[in-house]
Amino acid sequence: MALSFDDSPTDGTAQVLAILKAHKVKATFFIVGAHAAARPDLLRQIVHEGHAIGNHSHCHEHTLPMRSAATILADIRQCSHTIQDIAGVTPHMYRPPFGVVNPAIARAVADSGLPCVGWSLRSFDTATPRPERLLSRIVRRLKPGAIILLHDYPAVTPQILPALLQEIERRNLSCVLLSPEILQS
Ligand SMILES: [Zn+2]
Repeated sequence: MALSFDDSPTDGTAQVLAILKAHKVKATFFIVGAHAAARPDLLRQIVHEGHAIGNHSHCHEHTLPMRSAATILADIRQCSHTIQDIAGVTPHMYRPPFGVVNPAIARAVADSGLPCVGWSLRSFDTATPRPERLLSRIVRRLKPGAIILLHDYPAVTPQILPALLQEIERRNLSCVLLSPEILQS
């Protein structure tokens, strides 16, 4: 299974990184280029601590799905360049903002050469402030092969993460890094 965090880096990233480190678990962070430009040290920390990264657009604007394929492609490339400039690594996957794929986005992603990566278990952590509710929703659907969608900025996410990682450990599930290779297997 895999843990993924979207929209990073944010003000919550450091806390999530500390919890992951304490449990010796690696995750995949889908980076927003503009967020990385605002918090370059946190992007470098994500990479330095051995987590995987993906491209999650540069601007993450709600209007992005309405743009032309050329504009969306330029946004994808801007995010990749920003990540490369800051952390010296190139993302090899793309997760579209809001999980929306329309014909223009599909064309832009194809032209970018990056495989599109979704999730199988949406936690709704951005809309579930009650920790026990969020944790039980995730744990109920936890199974081998699950790709969990989380975010590192809601206050509730670090509140449930230690218990979630304990449950993953208890079930002998291992967290793998997402990569184009693992998605094909
Ligand atoms: Zn997002």
